[in-house]
Formats: sequence, structure tokens, C-alpha cells
Amino acid sequence: MNEPLAELSPADSKAMLHLVADRIIGAEAELSEADRRLGDGDHGLGMARGMNAAKAALDELADDATVADTFSTMGRAMMSSMGGASGVVFGSLFSAGKKALKEEVTFNTAGLAALLASAGETVMKRGGAKVGAKTMLDALIPAAEKAAEIKSLPLNEAAPIVATTGEEGREASKAMIATMGRAKTLGEKSIGHPDAGACSVAIILRTIADFAEGKA
Ligand code: ADP
Ligand code: MG
Repeated sequence: MNEPLAELSPADSKAMLHLVADRIIGAEAELSEADRRLGDGDHGLGMARGMNAAKAALDELADDATVADTFSTMGRAMMSSMGGASGVVFGSLFSAGKKALKEEVTFNTAGLAALLASAGETVMKRGGAKVGAKTMLDALIPAAEKAAEIKSLPLNEAAPIVATTGEEGREASKAMIATMGRAKTLGEKSIGHPDAGACSVAIILRTIADFAEGKA
């Protein structure tokens, strides 16, 4: 348990990202199960591999690392350890911090909004998917928009709202027909299950919120 935090220092950011990694590693079975229904069942495994690499890389960070360094280090470690499309997709979610948080001394709601917006743009550009195709973007993009709307609120107040929006996006993905990735061959059979990547995004955002609220 920590205090509610209106913004995170670089050390807080590092601790928060370790917690994100631990929560995703803890959800490995659940994430693979979600992917098993629509894809090849390896999403939890890939994410856990990426998150273990991220934890090791975070531990190597110098004491004077900035918030941008903590996020970009995590993203880089994920991309190089996970490989494939999801390595790029989920690595980009964190690597986006390199530019989006460049000038920031702390990680606040404006930084969260900038990070999510930049990650969404990068994922759409590199992966070619749009909102509604039943991917992680269906949690990420609404969350990015919500964060931008409330960016002047302290992080401990804004992050839970953004996390709830991400969870709503994950739920909304259940009704979508997959048109990207492995699940697209299922067509209408993909209806009724959430996208695995949207489940990961929801966990990541809820962890940021729990940490900022002092619940972690
Ligand atoms: P793989 O598809 O290689 O088996 P994973 O199972 O780890 O990789 O990840 C699948 C998740 O990655 C999907 O549920 C989806 O959310 C996300 N994803 C895959 N391709 C794209 C894409 N082009 N754009 C956005 N998200 C994608
Ligand atoms: Mg898969």
C-alpha cells in the first residue's frame, strides 16, 4: 500500500511498471484462455515472457532514469523478447513513452493521455487495424480519449476513470466480429468473447489506477 499519488516520480513509475508486469504475469492463464477462444492460445505466454524481460530491464535502469526512460525501457524489452505482431503492438504501448513523456519530470494524467494517444497511433500505423476490428485498440482508443478529456485531474482520480473506460472497451469487444489477426477466420463465431489483447490493456490500465490510488 502506498499513498494516493496525484503524479508519479520516476521511482514511482518504475514501481508501478513492476506491478503492471506482476499483474500480467499473474493473469497468464486467463489471457491465454481468452486467446484460445479466438486465436492460438499463446497471448498469456507471450505477455508473461515480455513482462519478465521488462522487469529485468527495469531493474537495470540507472538511478537518474526519467519517467520516459522507465516506459521506453519496458517497451524495448517487450519488443525484443516477445517478437511477432503482439511484441510490436504491446511493446509500442510502453515505448510510446519515449516521445510522449520526453519532457516530463513526473508521470501525471496529461502524460497518461499523451502516452495512450501516441501508442494508439503507432499501433494503428504499424498494425493496420482500426477501432471495431476486435483488437486491443478497442480498449486502448476509448481509454486514450477519456484520458485526454480529464487530463487536468490528478492521476489518482483520473486513472480509475480511464481504467473503467478500458474495461468497457474490453466488454464492447465481445460483440465485435474479428477482422484482423488470427481470429478473422472465425467470422461471426468470434462474437461473444472479448479480445485477448483488450483484456491485457484493461489489466494494465487498472493496475496504473490501483497504484495511483494507493490500493496496490
Ligand atoms: P499472436 O496473434 O501472434 O498469437 P498474441 O496472441 O500475443 O499474438 O496477441 C494477440 C492480440 O494482439 C490480439 O488479441 C490483439 O488484441 C492484438 N493484435 C494483434 N494484431 C494486432 C493489430 N494488427 N493491431 C492491433 N492489435 C493487434
Ligand atoms: Mg495468440
